[in-house]
Amino acid sequence: MYLAGVPLVRALETAGMRTVAVGAESGTVKLLRLIGIMRPRVLACTPSYAEHLIERAPEVLGRPAADLGVEILLCAGEPGAGLPAVRRKLSEGWGGARVHDILGGVHGVINVSCDADEYQGMHVLGADHAVTTQLIDPATKERVRVTDGAVGERVKTALRWQAAPPFRYSVGDMYQVFTGPCACGRSGERIKVIGRVDDLLIVKGVKVYPGAVKDVAASFVPDLSGELRIVLDQPPPRVVPPLRVTVEAGPGTEPSRYEDLAAGFAAAMHQRLSIRPQVTVVAAGTLPRASHKTQLLEVTGPPAGA
Ligand SMILES: [Zn+2]
Repeated sequence: MYLAGVPLVRALETAGMRTVAVGAESGTVKLLRLIGIMRPRVLACTPSYAEHLIERAPEVLGRPAADLGVEILLCAGEPGAGLPAVRRKLSEGWGGARVHDILGGVHGVINVSCDADEYQGMHVLGADHAVTTQLIDPATKERVRVTDGAVGERVKTALRWQAAPPFRYSVGDMYQVFTGPCACGRSGERIKVIGRVDDLLIVKGVKVYPGAVKDVAASFVPDLSGELRIVLDQPPPRVVPPLRVTVEAGPGTEPSRYEDLAAGFAAAMHQRLSIRPQVTVVAAGTLPRASHKTQLLEVTGPPAGA
């Protein structure tokens, strides 16, 4: 709540909205019970936590999240709402809720994705309060010219923030900036978070961010749960092939299907990301869930026998 929650709550209240200011640190059971009692129309949290609540609602409340009346999901803190398969999973799990990706809260930075059918990145809403689309090369720190589709490490500068304002400050995220017109008709720049600078993986020269692998996993729901870990022998970016990915079976998936699912997942990754991974399927509920940001990378050291 202290960083992402309080500024958002204050902003929403200033705009005339009634908020139920409960953070994920209260715990899943309490949060779900409060949603059941207070019936909010909007839920703001990380996309992985919104997924986690879908999983837990039947057990905690005796009914699915889809029945709780949430109409809008504001997802922030990590990529997810911008990934087509994750978006679909969240919307279906919450009963057809609209899913928006938001980024900001402090320093005058506020960016929100629109209603366009296909994700278009987040519209920059506070351009008079902060510069939020300036890009640099993560290796050389040289400026990257902002043209339509440009990719780089984002540095932000607050224009009006008075308490320790950031000046060309990076939190280590890679962004893509769009300058062309949006499908929704709104003008202005849009940005899309691609991943963390230090999460980039390079497998035989192919660059991939964990979020892209997460999107492949989400497209296998309900056969898979959508949860995954990328298991590395050494810290990123360099990966000695094959890339090892552990995915989790869906709650109703028979163990006899694990082998076929592993092969199907590997084929989908090859087709969509040009990487052939080594895939392990584990039983539903095996991978730990996080209430804040889920860490998809797990650095374990070299595999046994290597
Ligand atoms: Zn738009």
